[in-house]
Amino acid sequence: MTTPLGLSVVAPCFNEEAGLAVFVARMAAAARSCDVGAFEIILVDDGSRDRTWSLIQQLSVSYPEVVGVRLSRNHGHQLAVSAGLSLARGDRVLVIDADCQDPPELVGQMVARLDQGFDVVFGRRRSRAGESPFKLATARLFYRGLAALAESDIPVDTGDFRLMSRRIVARLNAMPERDRFIRGMVAWLGGRQTEILYDREARTSGATHYTLAKMLRLAGDGLTSFSVAPLRLATLLAAFGVCVSFLLLVYALVGFATGHATPGWTSLALIVVFFATAQLICMAIFGEYLGRAYMQAKGRPLYLIDEIHVAVPPSPPGGPDHAGRG
Ligand code: UDP
Ligand code: MG
Repeated sequence: MTTPLGLSVVAPCFNEEAGLAVFVARMAAAARSCDVGAFEIILVDDGSRDRTWSLIQQLSVSYPEVVGVRLSRNHGHQLAVSAGLSLARGDRVLVIDADCQDPPELVGQMVARLDQGFDVVFGRRRSRAGESPFKLATARLFYRGLAALAESDIPVDTGDFRLMSRRIVARLNAMPERDRFIRGMVAWLGGRQTEILYDREARTSGATHYTLAKMLRLAGDGLTSFSVAPLRLATLLAAFGVCVSFLLLVYALVGFATGHATPGWTSLALIVVFFATAQLICMAIFGEYLGRAYMQAKGRPLYLIDEIHVAVPPSPPGGPDHAGRG
């Protein structure tokens, strides 16, 4: 029988050879000093092109807690985290970047918070050191825009640095969707969630691997996975088009009746308005059906039950015992 693990740490690594040893040392020390018992550090090599994988193998010799996982190619941060989560065996699971931007030492505080009865403790960035003004501005805009459009409450200024209970990780692993925007999925799952504020550090070494293209893709995944608002644009435009056409119709007919209109203008205006509006309405209908088909295709559970409570009537002496059910 394997020893139960109190904590699994999942850290995605893409070309992190320069800072990985420091990260593992800090993470292992932090995990050892908090009261979780045995733990594992799952390092997911996301198709690195540098010496990250051989370094992971070396580190696993000095740190028996290290579990190395190598993906076949660069699948991207969110899928690397998903792979790590599916392998994590601990009662609590911490997702953290391997570049020490999320301080590993916060794990003690997060564990203490989770053990007060929470399902998720996420780290919200109070400040972000060493980031370009462009990254700060786009991130700010993205988190606020997503919070306004998304159907679930996705917390602002929060990345994937979070500690989760086994129950939430099991539910997350069971979500079959392909475009995985993990912070949104965790928010969607609900349960008892809380935050701790932290100062995000600058990278200890190397540069960000989140290129503009990867950032845009993540933003696109976030928006389209949690909102069908973009598809509804056609519905809004169609409603607007119907109002404008009606006003134009009145104007054109009055012009025609009073003889102010240039010959031919009335019929031309009416034809243009009619077809433009008809097309918008058709697109709106497509959008509404497509949005529903898309949501259905995600195959998410319809709802998740946290607890079932029944007031158990006092059982007669010697009767059946319902204690412990639910
Ligand atoms: N990462 C990854 N695959 C990628 C890009 C990044 O596994 O394609 C990892 C990276 O090694 C780091 C974490 O994801 O541990 C966050 O990436 P990064 O530091 O480049 O992003 P930033 O912190 O600048 O947003
Ligand atoms: Mg980083």
